[in-house]
Amino acid sequence: MKRSVQREAILNALRSVKTHPTAEELHSMLIESMPHLSLATVYRNLEQFSNAGLVQKVDCGGELRRFDGNIAMHPHQRCPECGRVCDVEDTQLVKLQHEMEKLLPALGCRTLKIELCGVCNHCHSTETQEVTI
Ligand SMILES: [Zn+2]
Ligand SMILES: [Zn+2]
Repeated sequence: MKRSVQREAILNALRSVKTHPTAEELHSMLIESMPHLSLATVYRNLEQFSNAGLVQKVDCGGELRRFDGNIAMHPHQRCPECGRVCDVEDTQLVKLQHEMEKLLPALGCRTLKIELCGVCNHCHSTETQEVTI
């Protein structure tokens, strides 16, 4: 199997889902169609894609590195119970994120992201969802 074919398959797989998979999850998605694909290859390619700006890393709550095929700036919501990471499609928050970027020089950091932390509906369907910024 050619390297470029594997690279393309990894990138396409990541772009086809909204689940922000880890390298392990992507590997198990692909292993059926590419039995020779190694986890190390997935890791290496994801790092390269991320360095090239083709994908973004989602580092939520210091957990396992998750990856996002959507490189447009958008806030994420993470469930502390199951670790699920979802996109937040809220124009107000996206606006806030842009506003926050103006603070970067004053804060002395390169990036600043909004991460919502809230128990997801799957884990907590009866009580009110708690969301903190
Ligand atoms: Zn959950
Ligand atoms: Zn995302």
